Amino acid sequence: MIKFENVNMEYKNGKKALIDANIEIGKGEFVFIVGSSGAGKSTFIKLLLKEQEPSSGSIVIDGCETTSLSKRKIPRLRRNMGVVFQDFRLLPNKTVYENVAFAMEITGHSGKDIRRKVPFVLGMVGLSSKAKSYPGELSGGEQQRVSIARAIINKPALLIADEPTGNLDPQNSWDIMRLLKDINRRGTTVLIATHAKELVDEMKQRVIELDGGRIVRDEERGSYENV
Ligand code: ADP
Ligand code: ADP
Repeated sequence: MIKFENVNMEYKNGKKALIDANIEIGKGEFVFIVGSSGAGKSTFIKLLLKEQEPSSGSIVIDGCETTSLSKRKIPRLRRNMGVVFQDFRLLPNKTVYENVAFAMEITGHSGKDIRRKVPFVLGMVGLSSKAKSYPGELSGGEQQRVSIARAIINKPALLIADEPTGNLDPQNSWDIMRLLKDINRRGTTVLIATHAKELVDEMKQRVIELDGGRIVRDEERGSYENV
């Protein structure tokens, strides 16, 4: 599903954010990316989304070498990935239903498809009763559920979450992590960059640790810190 081979990423100011990275993530995996601030987690995500280009090395996603992909084909690459952010990034003037439906509208789905799928996915994230609410009327946990619904509505092969629980209390963080694991069980590959030590320790999933742009650990049922 994802293969990084000898990937280096150096920003224009000379900062090496990823150094000789070799990563292989299979279809259907659930993976935590951990590491202190500045370790290179966001850079890794930006490379996946092709928001940044590596200075050298090869990035293959779903059999496609993305480094040589033309600009024209980037939208199709991104359509296969759902992204969830720490700060939710919902449209404040659209309802919950409209926020999720919008992701289907811009990818050209029919009204019939939208009316069938949005209620189904809102049910999946436990928000059927909030369809008509606006983001500002929801708790942080609920807003994150909307953003997850929006990220999965087009059935991406890969769901990327960048600090998804960073703005949530422990109870809501747990609920969001369980939801992400549910989505993974249904077949979506899930990648989560996080600082949530307790969640990572409890979930016992694959952990890739970055430090100063280098992969320093990759464990099958890992914990947040090397023990
Ligand atoms: P993390 O997400 O783990 O906090 P980042 O990938 O954001 O780490 O950053 C890795 C390193 O690259 C840090 O030293 C950071 O300061 C640097 N960096 C990130 N973005 C840029 C940029 N646009 N220009 C220059 N340096 C950057
Ligand atoms: P189907 O197999 O016909 O797609 P499902 O029962 O799996 O039907 O799902 C009902 C609807 O919800 C379908 O339109 C499907 O695309 C959508 N759906 C199901 N699971 C997910 C998921 N994990 N992410 C996004 N959409 C989903």
